[in-house]
Amino acid sequence: MAAIDNANDNSGVVTFEDIAGNEEAKESLKELVDFIKNPQKYERYGARIPRGVLLYGPPGTGKTLLAKALAGEANVPFFAVTGSDFIQVYAGLGASRIRSLFKKARQAGKCVIFIDEIDALGKKRRGGLTGGNDESDRTLNALLTEMSGFKGDEGIIVVAATNRIDTLDEALLRPGRFDRQLEVGLPDVNARHKILKLHSRNKPLDKDVDLRKVAYQTVYFSGAKLENLMNESAMLAAKNNENTISMKHIDKAFYTVVAGEEKKDRSSISI
Ligand code: ATP
Repeated sequence: MAAIDNANDNSGVVTFEDIAGNEEAKESLKELVDFIKNPQKYERYGARIPRGVLLYGPPGTGKTLLAKALAGEANVPFFAVTGSDFIQVYAGLGASRIRSLFKKARQAGKCVIFIDEIDALGKKRRGGLTGGNDESDRTLNALLTEMSGFKGDEGIIVVAATNRIDTLDEALLRPGRFDRQLEVGLPDVNARHKILKLHSRNKPLDKDVDLRKVAYQTVYFSGAKLENLMNESAMLAAKNNENTISMKHIDKAFYTVVAGEEKKDRSSISI
């Protein structure tokens, strides 16, 4: 089974405190914490319990972190899978994997199921809405069926993430499926400053380090790239046995991180 089952692993519980910026997505997910904890309360008022949340935006912006924080704050198990794991060569295997994932989640009781790269299994179906016979159509149909089967009072929320919302099958976005869609974009200067501070918490920074200035210099950096920048800076300082991480380490790391990204981009260009 492709699922990463963190059900019994309480080490490193993620909370909303571990995420800087992404305020709107955080606020929306905070509401769901109460849904998961007290689903009967919402049922009693006749409110439709959300079943699925779609997080969309560029890579490294904290989508996985947000899903983990939802489970962490609600204190429920977290089941994580990746869409591409469900695309199988053997007929029916993807669909049966979906069914066993949901079965396992239901057995756990209240929980968060996280499907990263949902676009890999949730692309617009070739067979149309009546269902096609293509293998990935079958896998997607199995997911839709499982989500429709929720009673609503189970306290299970499915969170999916994608960088490509435009390619998703519209059926996934209907009410009762991933009807809450939250954009998780690149951080602005204030969010970058907060992310840099967060990832410097356990690092000995020199007095000369001005993280606000670094935030201004890191336009278009994702949270993951900012985390990488602080980590590379720490590695440099450690390698040179220096007492603190100073601005010269951060400047040097900046070029390492940017050059690394450019190299990756170049190698992905096919001629
Ligand atoms: P992908 O689309 O590539 O799967 P993602 O959006 O799921 O990426 P994450 O895996 O959540 O991104 O982020 C990777 C790492 O980057 C996190 O573990 C964290 O260290 C850092 N990070 C990203 N965004 C933030 C943020 N808003 N606040 C704090 N740290 C962040």
